[in-house]
Amino acid sequence: MSQTAPVKSSDYKSEVKPVWCPGCGDYHVLLSITKAFAALQLPSEDVAVISGIGCSSRLPAYLDCYGFHGVHGRALPLGTGLKVARPDLTVLVAGGDGDGFSIGGNHFLHACRRNIDLTYVVMNNRVYGMTKGQPSPTTEPDWDSALSPGGTGLSPFHPLVIALASGANFVARAFSGDIKGTTGMLIEAIEHPGFSFVEVLSPCVTFRPDQRGWKNAVHPAPVEATDDPARAARRIMSDDGFNIGVLYRGTRSAYDLSRAEAGEVGEFDRMFEI
Ligand code: SF4
Ligand code: MG
Repeated sequence: MSQTAPVKSSDYKSEVKPVWCPGCGDYHVLLSITKAFAALQLPSEDVAVISGIGCSSRLPAYLDCYGFHGVHGRALPLGTGLKVARPDLTVLVAGGDGDGFSIGGNHFLHACRRNIDLTYVVMNNRVYGMTKGQPSPTTEPDWDSALSPGGTGLSPFHPLVIALASGANFVARAFSGDIKGTTGMLIEAIEHPGFSFVEVLSPCVTFRPDQRGWKNAVHPAPVEATDDPARAARRIMSDDGFNIGVLYRGTRSAYDLSRAEAGEVGEFDRMFEI
């Protein structure tokens, strides 16, 4: 009788060497993702990681599983389409705050609302890193930089609360430097039914060197996760932005993908059958 070897996190490491700046938080997120896949004993042929554009969206290239590096802001529609066509796969969508909340913002709302069984990981560094440091939707209004002298004065997008209001079924905030905690949250997010959203505070040491201080600012959320979205939203709106942990575990059932097979998607598939 043949025995399958246990999956190790190193099995998920591709031959492509990351080009992120030394010290970038995304290295730790990559490691946490491989550890989560290994902890769940997911064979790499059953996993797909989909991204958009940006520093963190390079992630699929560094993983030895199925992946797709899409276009800016379109990671969630790609991940949704893949999950509908191949419900057997574990689909993880990854990217940054610029990609996900600016051009991809509308897709974010509707992915939460549809509640398809996906995990969305956003490495939030409150800046567009790859294009040299423009303010992103999550940048603080008073962040002063060469490209935003005196700050933008704009109210930041609040991804966790917007995810709750839009119907996400699992909401967590992690810190990239906390590999054990991030791995645990990713495991839970992947296992939780429906749309799971994990915001990872992941410092951009090049354009936001101030974020090196995040390691001292983060702290565990003082209370257990709730299944009441209004309560979770109130807590998140009034916290200091550095509460780490699972903040909301919803009880909605994931979208029933057999409806897609029985309806228009199945029909469309059959039209193009070769
Ligand atoms: Fe990371 Fe910032 Fe460098 Fe991009 S620019 S790789 S986000 S440190
Ligand atoms: Mg960013």
